[in-house]
Amino acid sequence: MKTAEIREAFLSYFESQQHTRVASSSLVPHDDPTLLFTNAGMNQFKETFLGLEVRDYTRATSSQRCVRAGGKHNDLENVGYTARHHTFFEMLGNFSFGDYFKREAIQFAWTFLTEVLGLPKARLWITVHISDDEAAAIWIDEIGIDPNRLSRLDEDNFWQMGDTGPCGPSSEIFYDHGADVPGGPPGSEDDDLDRYIEIWNLVFMQFNRDADGTLHPLPAPSVDTGMGLERIAAVLQGVHSNYEIDLFQALIAATAARLGVTDLEHKSLRVIADHLRSCCFLVADGVLPGNEGRGYVLRRIIRRAIRHGSKLGADGPFFSALVPELVAQMGDAYPELRDSESRIASALANEEDQFARTLDNGLSILDGELAALSGTVIPGELVFRLYDTYGFPVDLTNDIARERGFTLDLDGYEAAMDEQRKRSQEGGSFKVDYSNTVALEGETEFTGYDSGVSEATVM
Ligand code: ATP
Ligand code: MG
Ligand code: MG
Ligand code: MG
Repeated sequence: MKTAEIREAFLSYFESQQHTRVASSSLVPHDDPTLLFTNAGMNQFKETFLGLEVRDYTRATSSQRCVRAGGKHNDLENVGYTARHHTFFEMLGNFSFGDYFKREAIQFAWTFLTEVLGLPKARLWITVHISDDEAAAIWIDEIGIDPNRLSRLDEDNFWQMGDTGPCGPSSEIFYDHGADVPGGPPGSEDDDLDRYIEIWNLVFMQFNRDADGTLHPLPAPSVDTGMGLERIAAVLQGVHSNYEIDLFQALIAATAARLGVTDLEHKSLRVIADHLRSCCFLVADGVLPGNEGRGYVLRRIIRRAIRHGSKLGADGPFFSALVPELVAQMGDAYPELRDSESRIASALANEEDQFARTLDNGLSILDGELAALSGTVIPGELVFRLYDTYGFPVDLTNDIARERGFTLDLDGYEAAMDEQRKRSQEGGSFKVDYSNTVALEGETEFTGYDSGVSEATVM
């Protein structure tokens, strides 16, 4: 089944179960300062879960475009390293607003996977929240899951869209890609090794978390589910990595042809194909590369893609030239992409022109310094100079460092940044924005746009 057919099969199945098909919302959340980018299908229904908005349906289904490149769910650093993470992906979902709850949510998911899609039951693994006896009993007694293929986990089975907002215990379905792939089942020590890949998360929405962290019951128990379209496509197409599915293979082939690369498995091709999707969809939804907030996240992703192109030998602009291939692949499902094609291409081309001027110089400075370095920590002062003079976002420098076995002195970088901030306040005329700092690992906190603070702050 092609990716586009899977999307349609999902939406039609849930329509046949009385769900209203709702279009994807924008990647730029409407009127929600707690959210950097749309990161899940439930975002557009947040107010409905909270009981603040009433819709004329109580069951919905959607295929939601999502970006996880900042804020609570951030997968930017995973791209190129795991088989299953993208910055941009589509989340298939079914939702109940005070209509059905755990039993039906589990039954729908199981029927869709094993009957509509025909997945072998023996390949599926289930997790539930450690406290959720009810969900465990439904899986074991009603669905007939072998208790040895069900794990009860804690944090991994409690889902929340952000630091505040709707949340609840969840039950997840994993697909076992087979003993050829290293890794253990959910809850085991090496469960993040991509043998057992999480395909579907069923969230039993029960609470609203407030700013103090207190949980308040929702007006009615509800259901929010999310299944990564690219992950289920990999399963159905008999491949392990998302990057091997039809859609990604087309993007990778176009990139390889453009750059004259013959090794189609090259990691950088995957990164470029991934970043092409997030960048194009972000521009289509009105984000432009800039020095702050969402625009700076977009700039970071574009520059990272350009650096991977340069690694593959690109000696001129290539990224914006890939836009037509993306439109060919995804324009039918997302007509807004086709409508903004020329706007997207010119935004990417501008950024490419700008960065091309400094990328090569920055890279040769970095190469020279690394050759002379003793130890494996890149000094903060150099990380800062690459940022300040050559426009290298910190995560780009980190991406290069990681490939070569180096780490960054982030404290030193912060100190150099502080120094420069002080100097620029004294000098008055300095134009660079020093408010952008970026966490490389773990949580980044989005503090909202009204606070005047950059969205990504090192914690
Ligand atoms: P993982 O543990 O693999 O990072 P997750 O638990 O963070 O996934 P959820 O927040 O539960 O993901 O999102 C629901 C579903 O969306 C996941 O089960 C998965 O199929 C898909 N998904 C999540 N993050 C990504 C991503 N970065 N790229 C592609 N698909 C994703
Ligand atoms: Mg994740
Ligand atoms: Mg998970
Ligand atoms: Mg999950």
